[in-house]
Amino acid sequence: MEEKQVRFETEVIHSGYSPDKHQDSLVPPLYQSSTFTFSSAEQGERRFAGTEAGYVYSRLGNPTVTILESRIAALEKGEAGLAFSSGMAAVSAVLLALTKTGDHILVSKGIYGCTFGLLQLLRTKYKINHDFSEMKSKEELEKQILPNTACIYIETPINPTMKLIDLELVVQAAKQKGIPVVVDNTFCSPYLQTPLTHGCDIVIHSATKYICGHGDVIAGLVVGGKEFIADVSKTTQKDIGGTISPFDAWLLLRGVKTLAVRMDRHSENAAKLFEYLQGHPKISAVYYPGDHQHPDYAIMRRQMKQAGGLISFCIEGTRETAQDFMNRLKLIKLAVSLGDAETLIQHPATMTHAVVPKQEREKMGISDTLLRLSVGLEAWEDIRDDLDQALSE
Ligand SMILES: *Cc1c(COP(=O)(O)O)cnc(C)c1O
Repeated sequence: MEEKQVRFETEVIHSGYSPDKHQDSLVPPLYQSSTFTFSSAEQGERRFAGTEAGYVYSRLGNPTVTILESRIAALEKGEAGLAFSSGMAAVSAVLLALTKTGDHILVSKGIYGCTFGLLQLLRTKYKINHDFSEMKSKEELEKQILPNTACIYIETPINPTMKLIDLELVVQAAKQKGIPVVVDNTFCSPYLQTPLTHGCDIVIHSATKYICGHGDVIAGLVVGGKEFIADVSKTTQKDIGGTISPFDAWLLLRGVKTLAVRMDRHSENAAKLFEYLQGHPKISAVYYPGDHQHPDYAIMRRQMKQAGGLISFCIEGTRETAQDFMNRLKLIKLAVSLGDAETLIQHPATMTHAVVPKQEREKMGISDTLLRLSVGLEAWEDIRDDLDQALSE
């Protein structure tokens, strides 16, 4: 039976899974098996040759993982999905699949720290170069796309300054030159933003964050065209080996069911806390894409469903003021990562961006008093009260 086209809130629960193919189990079963048996030597031969469908060995595919891969493909409106052992396994598999020695990658200014590290490694070891771009105008992009540019790599919103990149603007410039556009969609999740519907080619997730939503899994996901996904699956996933464990895939299938409900609450809580922080005399700046005064507010309205659950803000004073404030928090937990039920706070200058030299950091808008809040699912008034007591001493 053809799967009927249903809405996102229904897809997160049902896509990619039919109980009648799995002993009528309501919930996708966990196939915790490293390998799969063949009924005959000839069948084994056919499975290896790819002339008969079926599982062989869990690094090459696993039924629980397949359900997750179909589901994320449906959510991102792509043809096929692939699951990895971490977000970085996904990022590295994609970049290695798209590039070769001598190539160039054009990257949005301000990206995840380990992606930054991976780009350095690709440059020094494999002569795959990169440049950073604000990606603010077509003219700027046309100048920065070089004859050897193999792909464009984007994060939006940008961590932790919450600047946005206009996906359709980048796609226009890239399409003229036939260059694929890759988007790390971790900060939005497919509920808030689906880059493929704006013409981008490949989407990556650190599923560790909103897709899992419960702080108990490290995983990555990739969605793209059937051919590209099949190619990655047979090369930079199979042979480098960053495959997800069936149990982690099972936990993600459970976590993702509530994605829509969670994202609504994360976004509502963040909007209320933005107003509180905005009005507090000890807070000198707040960066939040739902702010009507935000320079990229129009882009947010065009390509995001809601503003999401992340807010960055600067506290009046010095690095010590910021750290003292963090130490006074009780409910809000001091931790990196984001997208969990618990509200988390981190200090980019000494944590996620400590490796970036101070001068570079300041150019990126990351001062010593900047803090990043991943707004959780608690009652927003309780989060506010905790911020308030820590600010009032
Ligand atoms: C966390 C994160 C990653 C890396 O994902 P892991 O699951 O930690 O490997 C990549 N990109 C972004 C935007 C992230 O927040």
